[in-house]
Amino acid sequence: MIVDYHMHLRRPADGYEEIDHTPEAAERFVEIARERGVDEIGFTEHVYYFRQTRELWTKPYNLDRCVHDLDRYCDAVLEARRRAFPVKLGLEVDFVPGRERELHDVLEQYPWDFLLGSVHEIEGHPIDHDPGEGLWKHFPTEEVWRRYFIALRGAARSGLFDVLSHPDLVKIFGRRPSADAVLLHHEETADAVEAAGALAIEVSTAGLRKPVGEVYPDRGLLEACRRRDVPITTASDAHVPDDVGRHFDEAIHLARAAGYSTVTVFDQRQARQEPLG
Ligand SMILES: [Zn+2]
Ligand SMILES: [Zn+2]
Repeated sequence: MIVDYHMHLRRPADGYEEIDHTPEAAERFVEIARERGVDEIGFTEHVYYFRQTRELWTKPYNLDRCVHDLDRYCDAVLEARRRAFPVKLGLEVDFVPGRERELHDVLEQYPWDFLLGSVHEIEGHPIDHDPGEGLWKHFPTEEVWRRYFIALRGAARSGLFDVLSHPDLVKIFGRRPSADAVLLHHEETADAVEAAGALAIEVSTAGLRKPVGEVYPDRGLLEACRRRDVPITTASDAHVPDDVGRHFDEAIHLARAAGYSTVTVFDQRQARQEPLG
């Protein structure tokens, strides 16, 4: 079975992507999934695009974007499912330390199949926008990595999520600390994910479209998770239909090389394992 459990419901428009939370927009993703042999897809719009989450945000970047309606988004995804394709309802949720209760209270009102937990910034400083900006401007590589993985382990421990997305996003610009430091982050993170209980990690082809040019996560982190029986999902992080299921042969090859033979399928936040590929 092949699942693509991370994509953003948009419509390509003149060189950029426009939010389009409609069943028709979802169907364009479904078409590509069918073409590429993907059996099931899951939409996971960013949590900060919705006015229902406004009270969680303080930065203009988020406040400018939280104008869309979460009910409309959920209805569009559920309607796409009714039109006869296994489309799952998800959300990509930025982990905001200290706001776990508020996050939980907003999210519990919707019929999610799964929730992705993501770390894109630390204390308001992005790590994935620009290698000369955000956290990179303030700290050496080793410290950026340390802070990123501390936040990611916090997301694991929060108990709010079903999957950790792009689990070593911090390598996005190809910068890495020493091999010993990388190994330590992998082991400690795998420990935290294992301790969280029912939590999967995502094998994402998004990194292939970024400067690093690699699947997230590193084989080392994936192997550390495999040793602890942490399950996986596969994902493209598509923002346009054409990226659905893209490069999945590489993701599945990496997962197999790390020892995985199953992939996680979610229904209403219940996980089960299916044969991978
Ligand atoms: Zn993300
Ligand atoms: Zn995403």
